[in-house]
Amino acid sequence: MTALPRGGRPAEALTAVEATIEDRWRLFLAEYGVAAGTTEEIDLAESVVADTSVFEWRVVDAAFDRLTCSDCGNRLGSGPVGCEKCDQADGFRFAAIETDRPATPPGTEHGLRVATAVARTRHRYGARARCGFELGLPLLLDGELPGTPQAQAYRAAINRLTEEECERVTSFDEVTRLSSRRVR
Ligand SMILES: [Zn+2]
Repeated sequence: MTALPRGGRPAEALTAVEATIEDRWRLFLAEYGVAAGTTEEIDLAESVVADTSVFEWRVVDAAFDRLTCSDCGNRLGSGPVGCEKCDQADGFRFAAIETDRPATPPGTEHGLRVATAVARTRHRYGARARCGFELGLPLLLDGELPGTPQAQAYRAAINRLTEEECERVTSFDEVTRLSSRRVR
């Protein structure tokens, strides 16, 4: 489980999403009659990452969590940018299946999936990018997808913060408050 340094609702949302990833993996293991903690589990994880496009994203993320990168030693796909194996794995991650939940705008599940990936491998992104994605996590988890104008307004507000502020804020309201003080 990833402890999100900024805390607040984004950290709570990430914990909740990670719980659904683990639940989904347990179900997946049961479907295949594989026990957790066995070499069969690792074999199954390897078969998932061999073709991510036919599995749900939670299954794919859980599979990556169980594999170690032979080049950098981190969880596969979670090493530093520039580790070729991890960069490639991180790309394949996004080929996984995303199914929108009922009564949510199309694309919400994609947004949740990307925000989750960013929050879990945040060292792979810049301070402003991870700020936007991590603050979006609670909204997406609640089934809300900010429209384009709203997303652009958030991005513009984030761009007015210092990187240190970007790391500290825990909501878009806070971003808006901080950035509005800065308008000339
Ligand atoms: Zn690596």
